[in-house]
Amino acid sequence: MARRRKLYEGKAKVLYEGPEPGTLIQYFKDDATAFNNQKKGIITGKGVLNNRISEFLMTRLSEIGVPTHFMRRLNMREQLVREVEIIPIEIVVRNVAAGSLAERFGIEEGTVLPRSIIEYYYKSDELGSPMVTEEHITAFGWAATQDLDDMVSLALRVNDFLNGLFLGVGVRLVDFKLEFGRLYNEHDEIQIVVADEISPDNCRLWDIRTNEKMDKDRFRKDLGAVEEAYQEIARRLGVLPEAGPMDLKGPQAMQ
Ligand code: C5P
Repeated sequence: MARRRKLYEGKAKVLYEGPEPGTLIQYFKDDATAFNNQKKGIITGKGVLNNRISEFLMTRLSEIGVPTHFMRRLNMREQLVREVEIIPIEIVVRNVAAGSLAERFGIEEGTVLPRSIIEYYYKSDELGSPMVTEEHITAFGWAATQDLDDMVSLALRVNDFLNGLFLGVGVRLVDFKLEFGRLYNEHDEIQIVVADEISPDNCRLWDIRTNEKMDKDRFRKDLGAVEEAYQEIARRLGVLPEAGPMDLKGPQAMQ
């Protein structure tokens, strides 16, 4: 296939110009980074699996009326998405204490939080994506109050839905990060949509029975069996490619 114009290369994905105006091609790499790029590695097959997992989750979300940038998967590593204006705020939703929250407040990892907690981070590699408040976001013009209201209500809907979806396949959704974009329609009206990807790269997913980690923490913490964890999530969701390394047929629970 003729190579399209590369618009942006990130840590785990590349964005190419799409076939029509207003579209982009999102290519999923096997590259993995952690701790703001200090740790780098390859998770073999991750791009293929995240492409499928994100396709599956974004499709289920759009079925319940959560707008996303996803249009369709093109091939093993690429999907067609709507071009959006990315809002430079990462929204983290947490249900169970882990990662930076457990560390920051000295809470034991695995403690169920009294309610879901939302945090905002400013998307900047140079600054190490600092945590920010609504005051910073609106004062510096990264997002308007209305944008932020829409992002929070969408993030909570995504959390409720994904909690149930993952529980159905024996997985606890500990926390996750979402990115959002602004989509302009022909009347120049703005719609806030879920962008980027939803995958074990940006969710913490634990086995409901054993609490075994099935996400990028296996790479971050050198726990081993990283590829297998991504495969297992894909298998449980019923989206492990048949030609994949283990050729496993997934349970039909979520299909
Ligand atoms: O590290 P921390 O506990 O703050 O991460 C919270 C959640 O956000 C985790 O699911 C992690 O995978 C995700 N995250 C991310 N990208 C970042 C930072 C965190 O996807 N840059």
